[in-house]
Amino acid sequence: MARGRIGLTKWFAHLFGRPADALDALQTIAARYGIEVASTEQSVDETIAHAKMRAEFFEKACLLLTSELSVYPQSTLKKSQLRRIVFGSALHINKSKAGGAFSAKGNVMYLSLDQLGDLNYSRRGFHHELFHCIDYHDDHHQYQDPHWLTLNEPGFAYSEAYKNKHGAAVTRVGFMTNYAMSAVWEDKAELYAHMIVHNSAVQQFAQNDNFLRRKVERMTELLQTFSPNYDANFWVRRSQNSAAMPVPELIVATLKIWWERVGTSDIYFVNREDGITTRPVAFYSREKLMHCLSALGGDDAPELNQLFSKESVSLRLKVDRATLARFYLG
Ligand SMILES: [Zn+2]
Repeated sequence: MARGRIGLTKWFAHLFGRPADALDALQTIAARYGIEVASTEQSVDETIAHAKMRAEFFEKACLLLTSELSVYPQSTLKKSQLRRIVFGSALHINKSKAGGAFSAKGNVMYLSLDQLGDLNYSRRGFHHELFHCIDYHDDHHQYQDPHWLTLNEPGFAYSEAYKNKHGAAVTRVGFMTNYAMSAVWEDKAELYAHMIVHNSAVQQFAQNDNFLRRKVERMTELLQTFSPNYDANFWVRRSQNSAAMPVPELIVATLKIWWERVGTSDIYFVNREDGITTRPVAFYSREKLMHCLSALGGDDAPELNQLFSKESVSLRLKVDRATLARFYLG
């Protein structure tokens, strides 16, 4: 369960007895991890812009960072090589709004903590950026990971276009968010942040989604190689401290369906309209198509009975992960 504002403040006051001096206390704790913390400073990276945080968010932001640092043993963060956390508001990367950023120039994490109304969003933001730091330093590939690409559905391609669908329902198996579909390193950082903050939900989703389950297993392996502190006990604690996750387990899939006469046969095609890839899947009879749609809960759509050759129909279905993982639909 997530600590609420009152719980955090009490906890903080218990530790330091002077909650007003939140930044000072945060800096003292961060120093034990070998990390400097600043609320404002000139960015070391010219692509990153940052504004000063409004006063009313300041103490809460310090409490949040103090709490999230405490998830880790000191040696884990020292190994990550994270040197500095700069927090504020209105963070922009290349003039696009962002919740956080990691710059390998000096190993600095930037966090926009002006959306503290959604506490778990900000918590995930910290762990997401921390993972970029771990990912950059854990092997010689930096952010690249050729093996991870093989864990996706066949034919899936990461695309920047998914970044614009940040808040929308997940449209693919194997992912916790649409943002994760934008690049391999964002996929890993999003999964990691969810494993830290919403561990129970990830475990539950992974039970019904083989693609996600393999990624969780691989992430667990990678982290254990990075630091032995990511052991079974660490994950038990994350599971016990899981925050509820508001995102539903069902995946929204929008299918485009059409048929064409090829020789003497009618071939039916299905393509995910919500996907970036445009390679359709062929069904060599209407029965085979209907068998698939029946499993997905879309076989009773009346539009399917009035389909002329090469015309298409669009179906929007809500499908559970286990069923959707059985059918690759372009
Ligand atoms: Zn990221």
